Amino acid sequence: MNSFIPPDRFFPYLTWTGIQEMADRENVVILQPIGAIEQHGPHLPLIVDGAIATAVTGKALARLDPEIPAYALPTIFYGKSNEHWHFPGTITLTTETLYHLLMEVGTSIYRAGFRKWGLINAHGVSRKF
Ligand SMILES: [Zn+2]
Repeated sequence: MNSFIPPDRFFPYLTWTGIQEMADRENVVILQPIGAIEQHGPHLPLIVDGAIATAVTGKALARLDPEIPAYALPTIFYGKSNEHWHFPGTITLTTETLYHLLMEVGTSIYRAGFRKWGLINAHGVSRKF
């Protein structure tokens, strides 16, 4: 389930008691990979953005000093891709839905005591977002 993310850096593999006992939670880095399900030319699969976001996050965490506490959340594979929806297979969220999804994930992370949350976006971002 952790894909490219090192298992010891994959947030969902933590336990709630492990988080409760975690020292200095406000300085633990939580990363959120974000992709999209959309076309990337006729030769590539729809998952390209999500695969890149997950792999970059995982490879960065694998190279990080083990003393630096950092974890990756599961990749959000759906993005705002309505600009691609004339290509069959595109799955898109509205800007509002993606915004609310990110705000609610961020709020949950904040409520757990974390204060450093990074977004690893592998998809283009509309200027309106
Ligand atoms: Zn994209």
